[in-house]
Amino acid sequence: MRRTKIVCTVGPAIDDPKKLRLMVEAGADVFRLNFSHGSPEEHSARAERIRLVEKATGKPLGILADLPGPKIRISNFGDGSVSLNVGDPFTLTTVPVKGDRRRVSVNYPLLAHEVRPGQHLLLADGIVELRIDAVAPPDIHCTVVLGGTLSNQKGLSVPRGGLSLSAFTEQDRVLFRHGLDMGVSMAALSFVRSSRDVMAARAFLAEQAASMPLMAKIEKPEAITELDDILKHVDSLMVARGDLGVEIPFSEVPLIQKDIIRKAVTWAKPVVTATQMLRSMVESPRPTRAEATDVANAVLDGSDAVMLSEESAIGAYPVEAVRALAAIAENAEKRLFENRTFMDMPSGNPSDLSTAIGHAACVLAQDADAAAIVCCTRTGYTARLVARHRPRTPVIAISPKLETVRRMTLVWGVKPVLANEFHTLDGMIKNALGAARDAGVLPGGRIVITGGSPSAGPGFTDFLRVAVVP
Ligand code: ATP
Ligand code: MG
Ligand code: MG
Repeated sequence: MRRTKIVCTVGPAIDDPKKLRLMVEAGADVFRLNFSHGSPEEHSARAERIRLVEKATGKPLGILADLPGPKIRISNFGDGSVSLNVGDPFTLTTVPVKGDRRRVSVNYPLLAHEVRPGQHLLLADGIVELRIDAVAPPDIHCTVVLGGTLSNQKGLSVPRGGLSLSAFTEQDRVLFRHGLDMGVSMAALSFVRSSRDVMAARAFLAEQAASMPLMAKIEKPEAITELDDILKHVDSLMVARGDLGVEIPFSEVPLIQKDIIRKAVTWAKPVVTATQMLRSMVESPRPTRAEATDVANAVLDGSDAVMLSEESAIGAYPVEAVRALAAIAENAEKRLFENRTFMDMPSGNPSDLSTAIGHAACVLAQDADAAAIVCCTRTGYTARLVARHRPRTPVIAISPKLETVRRMTLVWGVKPVLANEFHTLDGMIKNALGAARDAGVLPGGRIVITGGSPSAGPGFTDFLRVAVVP
């Protein structure tokens, strides 16, 4: 049984409903709609297809809407892409032109006013590097320092740029509204710098009378400094290594990844490790050994989930990429349980009773040799408090709320199950025993049941007991 969850970016490569279904059967848990690419209509159609596959397979699926944030992007090329060589002149312009090998437009009108000659610009997660020779608004004349292929809508970043863009943009609001309409399960905010950015998105949700878990993509140096404060306000994190490795020296990414993951687990907030995990599988049916090792290390670092980007959006082998992730992750997980049955992680919130019960559930499951821990949860909080200890005992989480079930697709080791509403303790225990039986726990098997008792408010975990499957 694999515990690490798999997030797959959706794109043309898996638009065929049969392909999409194969992705789920291969192990996809969450689908990411990158709102930076494709139209709202395309995203709605994709969300609908995902819900059809969810229905057909009976496996709950999360949909993550990834909002672009203040990312500067180039527009399109007449031929879809160009190949740039070292020493070539290349111009960025803030007026609309059809791109070619001499120039391309950028979507940020103020760019020419906020950069200076001598600065370097990185494109497509750092694959192409330009040096600015001269600025003559609306044009920025550059020379190619690092050559490569540049295709439509690739990102552009100004290292140490400090551009005057706010992280939750007007465009994000418009796209977020679309996301709410299409019923996404969670939303990711790009280029978050502080908890203020998270609060801006939260305020927008309140205006819309909606609520939804928010994920902060950690890809700015400011966010690393502010991580504790961001974690208090956000629901989950993504280690967005593409832009992170452009904003800070790439040599620092491996250790920062470990620090971000550790902090997120401490706060019981799910964390996704993303970008280039199996990059070579865009063209090849097998991963490189280095990629296999990277995925395994992300699992050992404590990631709740690992993610595919272009591998699943535009790659030639999306299903194979999911199978590869699943196989590497499952194998790496053995090491997590080698000398312990759960991790005794400190908590960011040690005085919280729910946190104490989450820990006690893991101890009890170990000492009672339980076959499963069943979390009864309305918000998913209980499940996260148990999962943060990465217990060897399988974790089942039941909820009467479909949104909660779909949100838990991101949480390490949790098998999310939709249950009937329960109003009494007896009803809750009965539901938990039923879910355990359905999950394969045999009669006579012990289970640990935890959660908020029906009399506790939502978001409180106050109940813990052992029951035997009849
Ligand atoms: P981000 O910084 O948000 O990760 P990105 O440009 O790196 O943005 P990814 O979602 O990581 O985008 O996907 C990697 C690449 O796959 C994109 O740059 C794009 O070329 C392609 N891609 C992703 N989604 C789509 C889509 N819906 N349609 C077409 N191409 C896509
Ligand atoms: Mg990316
Ligand atoms: Mg990014």
